[in-house]
Amino acid sequence: MQKEIVHQLPKVELHCHLDGSVPMKTLKKLAEKQQLDGALLDQVVAPEKCRDLSDYLKSFDITLQLMQTREQLEESAFATAEAAALENVRYMELRFAPLLHTEAGMTLPEIISAVSEGVHRAMEQYNILVNLLICGMRQDSNEENLAMLSELTQTQESLLVGFDMAGPEPDLANDHIEPLTAFAQEKGLQITLHSGECGCAHNVVQAIHLGADRIGHGIATQMDETAQALCVEKGTVIELCPTSNIQTNAVDSWEDYPLLDFMEKGIRCCINTDNRTVSHTSLTREYLLLAEHLGIHYATMKSLNLNGLSGAFITAEVKEKLAAVIEKAYAPYS
Ligand SMILES: [Zn+2]
Repeated sequence: MQKEIVHQLPKVELHCHLDGSVPMKTLKKLAEKQQLDGALLDQVVAPEKCRDLSDYLKSFDITLQLMQTREQLEESAFATAEAAALENVRYMELRFAPLLHTEAGMTLPEIISAVSEGVHRAMEQYNILVNLLICGMRQDSNEENLAMLSELTQTQESLLVGFDMAGPEPDLANDHIEPLTAFAQEKGLQITLHSGECGCAHNVVQAIHLGADRIGHGIATQMDETAQALCVEKGTVIELCPTSNIQTNAVDSWEDYPLLDFMEKGIRCCINTDNRTVSHTSLTREYLLLAEHLGIHYATMKSLNLNGLSGAFITAEVKEKLAAVIEKAYAPYS
């Protein structure tokens, strides 16, 4: 596969964290304005191999310092959506954890409205559609996450379409979050849960039982036939994030990367960046790496984007329109 062609083809991205994806030039601008030591930004890009997920998550302590005011969040959301649009991502779901942006006193409704404004500005300027997912944090209590969900769903923000749980993933992480997923569903949100990133396939099974339409990472599914059968049966979409998965040691190396195995088994997968800046990547780069290491071609790239679209939290009508755009653009190559 060729870089120019992969770049130019329309793409879908469902798993992208705002606080790990703000372009470096925007972070530099924000750091200057806030007089934050610029040298700290050198630590934002995580090493190619971290010890584990917790090690990888350290980068966010720095980026989050620059995402605490309305102006900073608006600019961050705009620049992230812009970066995706510039590599021809046509549909994106951008996720963020509102409770991580309250340090300078912003209220939760102010936080989501700032992100929404930035995303709207990008949608006006570029050919991209963006929706928002909010993340509860696993280190916070159910009560804290529930209060957050309750306050944010009252805003009736039209871009808010889904709920996720992020942060360090212990074993049995999903066994106590039923009140959260039930509440989110009651308020019309769809569910995707980070699960099976840290080795526990039970979390994947539990996530699907809780009504998750999609699984973030889902790597541990590789080790567990029950989880695999359930994903196939329910048509669950696994949001794979190759570079990030190798960085955090969710997968040791490309040889062990489960994409082709999952596809053979009939599990629907899509490809994502996770964190464009922290993982120093783009969606174009992720597909090129898959071509280099796993030998995928344009036909597979098309399927992966259609899988993403099928799992997107949008109406059937919008899916159909975007699917037609993808079919047409990939036709000469597959
Ligand atoms: Zn993630």
